[in-house]
Amino acid sequence: LARNPGEVEFHQAVREVFDSLGPVLQKNPQYVDAAVLERICEPERQIIFRVPWVDDRNHVQINRGFRVEFNSALGPFKGGLRFHPSVYLGIVKFLGFEQIFKNSLTGMPIGGGKGGSDFDPRGRSDGEVMRFCQSFMTELYRHIGEYTDVPAGDIGVGGREIGYLFGQYKRITNRYESGVLTGKGISWGGSLVRTEATGYGTVFFADHMLRTKGQTFDGQRVVVSGSGNVATYAIQKAQQLGANVVSFSDSSGYVVDEAGVDVDLLRQIKEVERGRVADYVERRPGARLVTGGSIWDVPATVALPCATQNELSEQDAKQLVANGVVAVAEGANMPTTPGAVSLLQDAGVLFAPGKAANAGGVATSALEMQQNASRDAWTFEYTEERLAHIMEGIHSRCEETADEYGAPGNYVLGANIAGFTKVADAMISLGVI
Ligand code: NDP
Repeated sequence: LARNPGEVEFHQAVREVFDSLGPVLQKNPQYVDAAVLERICEPERQIIFRVPWVDDRNHVQINRGFRVEFNSALGPFKGGLRFHPSVYLGIVKFLGFEQIFKNSLTGMPIGGGKGGSDFDPRGRSDGEVMRFCQSFMTELYRHIGEYTDVPAGDIGVGGREIGYLFGQYKRITNRYESGVLTGKGISWGGSLVRTEATGYGTVFFADHMLRTKGQTFDGQRVVVSGSGNVATYAIQKAQQLGANVVSFSDSSGYVVDEAGVDVDLLRQIKEVERGRVADYVERRPGARLVTGGSIWDVPATVALPCATQNELSEQDAKQLVANGVVAVAEGANMPTTPGAVSLLQDAGVLFAPGKAANAGGVATSALEMQQNASRDAWTFEYTEERLAHIMEGIHSRCEETADEYGAPGNYVLGANIAGFTKVADAMISLGVI
């Protein structure tokens, strides 16, 4: 704490993982002897840099860029870039720390890292976003590479931003190094299903959880927070599996659409027009916008928080339980506060932590890297099948580990321990580095 003052989200993420590890350390004293805990919460490398760019009014703007290369015991650093005004070192470190265990859980050879900037793309023109991305990459390029560190998207970074970043990387290095970034467009090295992967994967994971209680998505009433990449495709897959999704949101409020969300309209507004959820209500009879209050007041049997960290509070958890929620799966990173997680677990609600439930995104990024390395492009069906198989594997790894440690059904404990042991063993094998 004293070493990383003020990084509250990072402290929260470390505490959440370390709280699960007592029994593992007792069983494996070699982790203590090799100071694995002390090493694992210290990033291998942290880069902070100035990002100067010129806006449309010819004013010079300065943002701050970050890349935290957290742990490369299992493979090159891998994790997204977030562009949002709330980004500072504590957010990047919490995300990078989570990413270590998530990537380990996927079973793929990828280490953990994260980056971003306090740049706010909202309201910025295409030209401004491009100039910002070019300036950002003009520093970042020297730190990344197919075998070193492979960034991807996150909040505020989608296909458009990855395109500008990749273009600048290619220009500076004079190399068409497809494997340096993931989330690329389909015509220039991207993978089918990468766009859908995080949302789809979250629903696949939740479906496996529901099945342990003899249920499925069919007939569930679902509430999904957010309306970005993760939320949109969580809604789509939940509907494909027979659920009625009745609500979604952005930072200005939430929409209730009892007839079931029209995903095509939502995609048109968010992906094509870059609009807001209020635009949806104007074009969808029967839907209403609620500003103020909490989306978790909307009754649901399955809740999928897919917006941002700490968006589901203890009070929200109480309301969800009172309304009869059966399962909560985190599409976002750390959206549920620690108090809310305990409350849901104590009430017997199935709870999937983000590092397990949303790992489908990074796993499909690893599939994109595989396709790049073999100069191949897989079909949508094959790639989705791989994703479904990976999510099934993550679910069983969490479930079996929770059972092994005497906490059946505790996916938080299962994910933390299963993710940790693989990285810890690799760190010990590689020596004190
Ligand atoms: P997007 O930028 O596509 O969408 C983010 C959504 O969340 C928007 O609807 C946004 O609304 C809302 N949101 C963001 N910040 C806030 C805030 N402070 N308060 C309220 N609403 C907010 O991001 P993604 O969908 O990619 O990411 C969502 C979450 O999923 C993040 O936690 C991310 O780390 C996590 N994640 C993403 C992965 C991916 O593959 N994209 C992979 C794994 C996890 P508004 O436009 O109003 O800000």
